[in-house]
Amino acid sequence: PYDGPSAEEVLAMRKQHLSPSLFLHFKKPVMIVEGKMQYLYDERGRRYLDAFAGIVTVSVGHCHPEVVEAINHQNQLLQHTTTIYLNNQVAEYAKELADRMPGNLKVVYFVNSGSEANDLAIMLARLHTRNWDIICLRNAYHGMSLGTMGTCGQHTWKQPMPQGFGYHHALNPDPYRGAFGDDGRRYAADVADLIGAATPGRVAGFIAESIQGVGGTVPLASGYLPEVYKLIRQAGGLCIADEVQTGFGRTGRHYWGFQRQGVLPDIVTMAKGIGNGLPLAAVVTTPEIAAAMSGRLHFNTYGGNPVCSAGGRAVLRVVDSAGLQAHCGRVGARLLGRLRGLAEKHDVIGDVRGEGLMLGVELVRDRRTKEPAPSETAAVMESMKDLGVLMGKGGLAGNVFRIKPPMCFTEGDADFLAEVMDEALSRL
Ligand code: PMP
Repeated sequence: PYDGPSAEEVLAMRKQHLSPSLFLHFKKPVMIVEGKMQYLYDERGRRYLDAFAGIVTVSVGHCHPEVVEAINHQNQLLQHTTTIYLNNQVAEYAKELADRMPGNLKVVYFVNSGSEANDLAIMLARLHTRNWDIICLRNAYHGMSLGTMGTCGQHTWKQPMPQGFGYHHALNPDPYRGAFGDDGRRYAADVADLIGAATPGRVAGFIAESIQGVGGTVPLASGYLPEVYKLIRQAGGLCIADEVQTGFGRTGRHYWGFQRQGVLPDIVTMAKGIGNGLPLAAVVTTPEIAAAMSGRLHFNTYGGNPVCSAGGRAVLRVVDSAGLQAHCGRVGARLLGRLRGLAEKHDVIGDVRGEGLMLGVELVRDRRTKEPAPSETAAVMESMKDLGVLMGKGGLAGNVFRIKPPMCFTEGDADFLAEVMDEALSRL
């Protein structure tokens, strides 16, 4: 049993010694001290069903035995040297990851966070194209570094200072709130306009997720990416897919999120689920693009260290051997159906969307005006926590439930979540 400091003591230490810009998800904070697959446990041993996976980070399950075993084994053999020596783990891992990529995406850079991966991807695009400007999306989130802060399309993540130069935000192809509904081609026309108006007519690249995560589970409008990729390439740019949340089979039908729209990116970035909670991230690109950076040295102290590599390799194995991609498709379809059923009963639900185990439920005060319902969302989330389910939340107004559990989530868990949500919505 847990015998550390109480939740109140931890909260006091956190207030005094950790960043004042941190945020908590609940009015009465939950303290989590243990995790097992799709379950989390607080300091009193109370079990919660985890529907947010540490913000879409725990892919195959909290403390998945095969991943833990791989990490423990490597931990005792060799923890760290850096890439100045040869080591088998990072090389075998790069090969196994490249084997799961389409096209000529065969060169891997390992780093430690999604922000670092996206910074590196943008640098590669700029070096390869010898252009500077980057097109990104309103409502996007790609990280908190000085560079990636510029790509974010939500004011809440931007400090009042220059956030990198040369980032231009296109209209968000949001099927629910956007001006053109689900017509991706009409949003793409805005990208052509933006390139003409805000850049020298040549760009370094374009970066987007296929389903925006932090932005509130927003699947990009149909046909958007093929059209935009064409425009960006015509303007000399490269296309970057941020797979930090959508990768590794979570969306069910596809292993990578960009495959939903049938495109082939030039650079793919990954983090979060790649390491099931380990500090691990990667950039994958083609040998031709990688060559653009080879005129100078490149180094990353912890990137691809043996312990993270061993853990990352175990994640790839488990996703395949447990058939988690197909599983996400099956369980996600069931949950989506249940959530749509709730929308028929509760007027406060304005939209239910997403694919696989990357789902969103948006709450509104009026289905016609789509006025966001953030306080209602917070209240439902608090009730669901009290009933044993930890939900995620997002969107600029904080009115979208983000349901992105560990991929081992079962159909029984999906039914339980829907029943608890029904009860919590009824309490509003
Ligand atoms: N890209 C996406 C899509 C993300 O969701 C996040 C993190 N929420 C990042 C990049 C940044 O990752 P990190 O926090 O590891 O820097």
